[in-house]
Amino acid sequence: MTRLSGITPSGHVQLGNYLGAVRRWAAEREPADLFFVSDLHAMTTPHRPQRLRALTREQFAVLLAAGIDPDSLFVQSDLAGELGALNWILECTCGFGEAARMTQFKDRGAGQHSVRVGLLTYPVLMAADILLQGATEVPVGSDQDQHVELARTLARRFNAAFGEVFAVPRAVVPKTAARIRDLSDPGRKMEKSTLQSPGVVFVLDEPDVIRRKFRRAVTDGLDDVRYEPDTRPGGANLLEILAACNDISPYAAASAAGTYAELKEVVAEAVIEQLRPVRERARELLDDPAELDRVRSRGAKRARDRAQPRLQAALRVTGLR
Ligand code: ATP
Repeated sequence: MTRLSGITPSGHVQLGNYLGAVRRWAAEREPADLFFVSDLHAMTTPHRPQRLRALTREQFAVLLAAGIDPDSLFVQSDLAGELGALNWILECTCGFGEAARMTQFKDRGAGQHSVRVGLLTYPVLMAADILLQGATEVPVGSDQDQHVELARTLARRFNAAFGEVFAVPRAVVPKTAARIRDLSDPGRKMEKSTLQSPGVVFVLDEPDVIRRKFRRAVTDGLDDVRYEPDTRPGGANLLEILAACNDISPYAAASAAGTYAELKEVVAEAVIEQLRPVRERARELLDDPAELDRVRSRGAKRARDRAQPRLQAALRVTGLR
């Protein structure tokens, strides 16, 4: 079993990414698990080159700092050649209607003046990511389920038409993890691509910035702290964050809380302590570009070594070699 998980450098890594995904990736890692920073996927909407480069480095450093094994980690564009080749082959097996049916394409493209072809075809590139690494399981949230289903369909179709080259992957539901909400707008989930929200806490934020963000968190206007996610989402979010940091239940966190003002201080300190080692280690790595580049090249080589035999087989059986 090989599991593949990715994170897109569409913004700075935020607390939800860390508590909901990265921390678990590091803690529950099996030897064959693979992780990657999906910088090619960050180009489906307008982007700035310098920012993309910096965010990719930052995410790579944060993943390493969080304890992901360097040998299991790579940057997607370091395999741009291999992925580009397989992407084309897979695009030539994928129906236009099949790609256009993806609900994420419809949602993200809706109301846009102009939509990039990359937004339509990126699920095919995602299939190339999965198939080239031989991943058999892809842990994804419900918004990506359909894309893994497409990868599954394309793998089966390819194998049936040309011969068994690819393992057929399946989506797996990650174990339930905290779903962190935006502190200033608890109606929406915390997201790294949200621009300028004071309610998004970043993993590399300094402690004082984190304190300020929590002090301004929206709560319910009531004095007593109770865990009621449906009617009091703001307070419930703070309790869930505290619970995730301290490995307790949100109910236990609520019963130990005083007022909301006190709770905000306590949560801020718990988050600061939770993130401190990651932030410090990530900063060290970012201050040592040569070391970071070395780790990155090694990860890239391993990923290419995994990809090449499958790519060569795909080129051969499709008549390109
Ligand atoms: P974007 O703003 O680009 O959609 P995002 O912050 O939602 O980014 P992704 O790159 O889509 O993050 O997801 C990376 C991982 O982080 C996924 O496993 C996803 O489930 C997890 N994740 C993202 N946001 C949260 C959140 N608010 N709470 C818990 N987990 C989250």
